[in-house]
Amino acid sequence: MHEYPITCEIIGIAEDYVRRYGAQEVLQINLVIGEDSGFIGDSIEMYFEVIAKGTLCERAHIEIEYIKPLLKCVGCHKLFERTSASFTCPLCHQIGRPTARGKEFYIKSIEVDL
Ligand SMILES: [Zn+2]
Repeated sequence: MHEYPITCEIIGIAEDYVRRYGAQEVLQINLVIGEDSGFIGDSIEMYFEVIAKGTLCERAHIEIEYIKPLLKCVGCHKLFERTSASFTCPLCHQIGRPTARGKEFYIKSIEVDL
């Protein structure tokens, strides 16, 4: 559910961008979403369809780049991708701790019609 307010905010930012650069409308919004960010891309796309109606984003497309979380091994410090079932380092089999990688959530770029 918290995708609703964040989608409103994304549309607001994109509309500001259009006005600031004297553009006609937003063509595409490129988002980066870490899989551990707590945001669901599908939900954002769903809300966007509804909220964007009547705005400068009405015909815009949302492109989402997903970032896989990386863990850091407490033993050998290797960074590795978490699998669904395991937090264990593939090299030395010690436990991996979460890193910032995978918690991203930001607008990478906004494409407008000039
Ligand atoms: Zn290790």
